[in-house]
Amino acid sequence: MDLSYEPLDLRLHEPFTIARGTQLVAQNVRVTLSHDGITGSGEAAPEEHYGELQATVIAFLNAFSPRLTEYPATVPLHTLHQLMQQTAQLNPAARAAVDMAAYDLLGKRLGAPVYELLGLNPAHTPRTSYTIGIDEPEVMARKAAQAEKDPILKVKVGTARDRENLASVRDERPDAVIRVDANSAWTPKQAIARIAELEEFKLEFVEQPVDGRDLEGLGLVRRASKLPIIADESCIVPADVPRVAPYVDGINIKLMKCGGIYPALQMIHLARAHHLSVMMGCMIESSIAITAAAHLSPLLDYADLDGNLLIDHDPYRGVTVRDGKLCLPSAPGLGLQSAA
Ligand SMILES: [Mg+2]
Repeated sequence: MDLSYEPLDLRLHEPFTIARGTQLVAQNVRVTLSHDGITGSGEAAPEEHYGELQATVIAFLNAFSPRLTEYPATVPLHTLHQLMQQTAQLNPAARAAVDMAAYDLLGKRLGAPVYELLGLNPAHTPRTSYTIGIDEPEVMARKAAQAEKDPILKVKVGTARDRENLASVRDERPDAVIRVDANSAWTPKQAIARIAELEEFKLEFVEQPVDGRDLEGLGLVRRASKLPIIADESCIVPADVPRVAPYVDGINIKLMKCGGIYPALQMIHLARAHHLSVMMGCMIESSIAITAAAHLSPLLDYADLDGNLLIDHDPYRGVTVRDGKLCLPSAPGLGLQSAA
């Protein structure tokens, strides 16, 4: 099996701001696995917060690809992940790209879409949220109005103006389900006070109110707040699930944090065993990685798979969104097509 890659630089429609900074471009990497004339596509969206850059993804792929050529037949996914772990322990976005390309290739070989390989019903996909980054209240209201076809909005919080921002979004969209994400911005004490202040806007849940390492803090906030608390930065890989379970109501899984579809499945099953709700989120990604995550979405309570909707030139078409609901392509593998 052969691996090739190329940088995939994505430009956002508009600057995207969360509590820890503003993003204008995503420097991703497209990965192709090929075997017997069939190719599979994957994508890495490295995040500096999790220790990765485009250059570290490429370094991982350069180290890993010679190992694959030792395998004349397509490598089983379990073996593929063992080989990647032997190459380097971290690099989850790089591993996710190889993982999703392997699922795409496997599905094409077997003539089945990935959701079918996973035993899932494509009619059971959830609705996805559309994310509104931190901005001036008028800008956030405009974005909420433009997202009129999206029934669920995820609003980024963690500034001194959260109440004003939420009021402008709620005024514009009285109909919408609104969830918020603080991206670790608050201390536990601040979080308890801020969440109480935001309750009047009828929120669905709060994602990562405090620092990712502060599990006790998450537990304090959860006990003091009426809204469900979802762990994102606190829950990265499968081993984190039992660790965070006593402190939160649910977890937000991302392919780029855990290393792909295979470990994401482990996280979903672990979460269910611990009675946690399950969400899947994303980074700024093209339709390659968003579609890969969407194939798992019939297993989710909440989806936030909108990274491809925030970019200018998406090189692929895959999952689409109709009235908020994720619609999976039925072609074999991930079901991706090149955009015209
Ligand atoms: Mg988050």
